[in-house]
Amino acid sequence: MAALASWLDARAHHGRWLVRIEDVDTPRCVPGADRVILEQLACCGLVPDEPPVYQSQRGALYQNALDSLITHGLAYPCACTRQDIARALTASGQARERHGELVYPGTCRGGLHGRTARAWRLLTQNRMPNSGLGQSGRAQAAIDLIADNTPAPTAAQAEVAWCDRRLGAQAQDVGREVGDFVLKRADGLWAYQLAVVVDDAAQGITDIVRGEDLADNTARQILLQRALGLPLPRYLHTPLVLGANGEKLSKQNGAQPLDTAHPLALLAQAGQTLGLEVEHMASAETPSAWLQLAVPLWATKIAG
Ligand SMILES: [Zn+2]
Repeated sequence: MAALASWLDARAHHGRWLVRIEDVDTPRCVPGADRVILEQLACCGLVPDEPPVYQSQRGALYQNALDSLITHGLAYPCACTRQDIARALTASGQARERHGELVYPGTCRGGLHGRTARAWRLLTQNRMPNSGLGQSGRAQAAIDLIADNTPAPTAAQAEVAWCDRRLGAQAQDVGREVGDFVLKRADGLWAYQLAVVVDDAAQGITDIVRGEDLADNTARQILLQRALGLPLPRYLHTPLVLGANGEKLSKQNGAQPLDTAHPLALLAQAGQTLGLEVEHMASAETPSAWLQLAVPLWATKIAG
C-alpha cells in the first residue's frame, strides 16, 4: 500500500524508488521476512532501483549520529527503568501516557548521580509544568550553548510544525507530548527514530511516502534532523487499508500472507484506497501495465 504509493510518487517525479528493510529491532524480526516482502513487491511489479538497505547492518552510522548529538550536549544517558519513570511521574502528579508510552519526565537530565546508564535520550526543550527538571545546570548549559552558537545544530525547539502533502498542516510539541525520547535503548538496540533519520539522509531521500499510522513519528524525526543538521524531506502519509474490525491489515515487519497469485487484484485494492480511479487500469493485463497507467493518475491527482 505505502509501497505502491511511494513507487507511484517516485515515478511521477521521475525519481528513484528505494526499499529499506527496517530490521533495527533485530530480535523481533522474523528471519526471511525481508525476502518474502521483496518477492511480494516484485510480484506487483514494484522493484527497487537500488539494492535494499538493511538497518541491522548500519549500527556504525547510528553511533556516529549519537556521538555527534552527545558532543553538542543534545543527548544524555538515562538510568531509569520503566518503573522509575512511572514513579517519578506519579510523584509529580503527572502520570501521562501516550500510546502506552510514558512521557519521560526528564529525571536524568541533571546527571546519573552514580546510577548506571541504560539508554540514551535526546534533550528536547522541555517545558513541563511543575517539573522544574529542565532547570538543572547541565541541561540548561546545553540549551544555552545551542542558543549562543547560531549555526550549530539547532535542536531543542521541541515545538515542530510541518506540512504533510496529504494531511496538511501538522504540529506537535515533542517536549510536552513525548518528552526526551530514546535514541539507543537499554538493550543496546537503536531506536527506530534515530535509524530512520540517519538513513533518510544517507540515502538522499527527498520524499517520504508511508502509511498514516506512522505520521505521529514525524515531529520526532524532524527534531532529530534539525539536531543533526540534516536536510528535511517532504512527507506524505497515505490512508491505510483497514480490515472489517477497523484494524490495520499488514504489519510493518513480519510478512503477512498477501495473495500474490492475483497481483492485479492487490494493486486495484491498494489503488482504490489511495483514491485512484482504478477503472482506468481495468484493461491492464500485467502489473507493470497497470502501474504505467496509474503513474499519470497519481501525478495529476496527488503529486501535484
Ligand atoms: Zn532517566
